[in-house]
Amino acid sequence: MKFVDAHVHLSDEEYAGCIEEIMAEAKKSNVVALVSNSMDLKTSIGSLRLAEKYPGTVYVASGIHPSSLNTLPEEELQQTLELISEQKHNKCLVAIGEIGLDSKYMQIWDKQLKVFDSMLRLAENLGLPVIIHSRGTTTQIVDMLPSYKLKKVLLHWFSSPIGALSKALKIGCYISEGAPTVYSKGIRDVVRRVPLTNLLTETDGPVRFFKLPFEGKRTTPAVIPTVVEAMAEIKATDAGEVAEQVIKNFENFFGVQLNLTN
Ligand SMILES: [Zn+2]
Repeated sequence: MKFVDAHVHLSDEEYAGCIEEIMAEAKKSNVVALVSNSMDLKTSIGSLRLAEKYPGTVYVASGIHPSSLNTLPEEELQQTLELISEQKHNKCLVAIGEIGLDSKYMQIWDKQLKVFDSMLRLAENLGLPVIIHSRGTTTQIVDMLPSYKLKKVLLHWFSSPIGALSKALKIGCYISEGAPTVYSKGIRDVVRRVPLTNLLTETDGPVRFFKLPFEGKRTTPAVIPTVVEAMAEIKATDAGEVAEQVIKNFENFFGVQLNLTN
């Protein structure tokens, strides 16, 4: 079985000293492709460097996350938009992400809306899929999406509300889930409702998970096979079928062809 991680932050500082180990772990766990999501300009550059270092395995999603906005220098939005535009012919750049809206930062709500809109417009222009963070804002985001001409949308770590999930699926969104698939009743319910053809797997590393069997240990791609097993159990099918379909979904969503031979 081969696996993929559609949403990880490989250029996060926490992985800086151990990226070789993380990539070796990915290989050992049969995780054949990872999309390194970015939070700002620095992590976008970091993700691009990692894609150069691990061609055909590491892909890049570049963008500005709402949690970066509190400290984001004024000029950085423009610089990030320019970087992404300059890289538009780079085959490693497969999405705009992680972008979105977060209800935890209401004090900078207008700034969030402005940056999110700029990122979605860029995705429209470049014909790139988007990876969206929607903590506390899923309904609003799902209602906003049809006003953009987006190629494809991934709602990562979708948790609630279920009403927004049906709307999101109706407009063709993909959903990615990670470690909570193993222990969270709510996430298991989401997985149950998402057709296998719209499902992706993620770690969101270096985010740590404290429930069993993860126990707060460093998050590595080795989480993915466990997530696929949990998905298979929920879908009452075998892990091989889930793994195979998730690979197809990854290729369809990001428009890449993975090397599955080694
Ligand atoms: Zn993330």
